[in-house]
Amino acid sequence: MSRIVYVNGEYLPEEEAKVSIFDRGFLFADGVYEVTSVLDGRLVDFEGHTHRLERSLRELDMTNPMHMGDLLEVHRELIKRNDLQEGGIYLQISRGVADRDFVYPAGLKPTVVLFTTAMNLSDSPKAKTGLRIIAIDDLRWGRRDIKTVQLLYPSMGKMMAKAAGVDDAWMLEDGFVTEGTSNNAYIVTHDGRIVTRQLGHEILSGITRNAVLRFAREAQMVVEERPFTVDEARGSAEAFVTSATTFVTPVVEIEGTVLGDGKPGPVARRLREIYIEEARKSLAV
Ligand code: PMP
Repeated sequence: MSRIVYVNGEYLPEEEAKVSIFDRGFLFADGVYEVTSVLDGRLVDFEGHTHRLERSLRELDMTNPMHMGDLLEVHRELIKRNDLQEGGIYLQISRGVADRDFVYPAGLKPTVVLFTTAMNLSDSPKAKTGLRIIAIDDLRWGRRDIKTVQLLYPSMGKMMAKAAGVDDAWMLEDGFVTEGTSNNAYIVTHDGRIVTRQLGHEILSGITRNAVLRFAREAQMVVEERPFTVDEARGSAEAFVTSATTFVTPVVEIEGTVLGDGKPGPVARRLREIYIEEARKSLAV
């Protein structure tokens, strides 16, 4: 079934949606994006995603072509038109269309594209079995805090994981884990502390990370925001990842080392439960 998508002010069947070959998003990966999850036909943490979007645009000197209220309306309309109960809404804003030149002219009109993807988020099979992870070098650029569409290396990382017969990869810089290819990475120490890398230019400030760390602290869990190595991860009690479309998903194997009994750990399972419960409660829009 064809989806209805949004392109620059128009709702169109996906086959009819077109963007110029001169779009800088296409030629230079000059664009930013957000993925907001949808549960029970409603948006999860839309406000968090719009804040990060504003920041990404600002960091790249791009003007936001739409008011946030209008953007919210488009999200809602796409949910309605596509009868989306559970999944994600992808939003991309690129700098716009200009003849190919590294130096771009002032006053470009940004290209805005949104589409829905139906996914089973709350009951995903991987949440039950847990993920198997390899470690790869982090070869991305130095401003990973900006959510740009230059996702070639994360895509290569997922292909490396696939070729290795596992689910995903965590990336390493100077011996420490930065994050997963499309998620934030966490370990749990044997005395129950949750460890995840501190924010900075090296990782994306996950909207799910923000919520999960808040819920963990509210549940009296100890959170340490600091770098950790793969060896520490392999010796940890459990591990997990977070992202908008995977919520909290346990990790059961890192670089061939099985964690604990090889099943999702209690901290990750509990945090996943809390996250989904809280997300459902707060579905305001
Ligand atoms: N890190 C990276 C590199 C990502 O691509 C993502 C997902 N876009 C995340 C972390 C998680 O961010 P969020 O929780 O906002 O989906």
